[in-house]
Amino acid sequence: MLIIDLRRLTEAPLEVVGQIDREDPLWRGSGVDLLLPLSARGTAEAAGGGVVRVHGSFESRAGAACRRCLKPVDLDVAEEFDLVFDPSAKRGDEDLTLYRLDPNADELDLRQTLRERLLLAVSEYPLCRKECRGLCPHCGADLNATECDCSTTESDPRWAPLLTLRGEGEAGANG
Ligand SMILES: [Zn+2]
Ligand SMILES: [Zn+2]
Repeated sequence: MLIIDLRRLTEAPLEVVGQIDREDPLWRGSGVDLLLPLSARGTAEAAGGGVVRVHGSFESRAGAACRRCLKPVDLDVAEEFDLVFDPSAKRGDEDLTLYRLDPNADELDLRQTLRERLLLAVSEYPLCRKECRGLCPHCGADLNATECDCSTTESDPRWAPLLTLRGEGEAGANG
């Protein structure tokens, strides 16, 4: 279960084990296509003052687009987490591992948090390969497959008249 019973947590730490299926409505609109369910395992413990600490790891495989060339990539995600759910935490806290916990809640649903952690992980590193050369910013050519003319002539020809003007200006100032 990825929903922690907070009343039981006051007695002893709880093991947290569970999955979020690929078809779960939770993923709708996330822009991420899961190829395997997200599976998580960890421990939840009461840290005093109503604060709950949950640490463990999760893994999944997601379909994403290479950050440089937009080619589809199968991304194996395996992340560790150590999260603090604090009833006195404020929204907008800089710490990305600190979450606000509803002080009146009887349970803590980790699914939304795990969804967020997965999206964060996926946004960080999709590259089809480390040396991916990406797309040419000028003509959009896939530089892994082809060389385009833009990469040899450094500047856009439309700027040439401007550069000439600037060159003349500098020459004038120096001379
Ligand atoms: Zn790529
Ligand atoms: Zn180009």
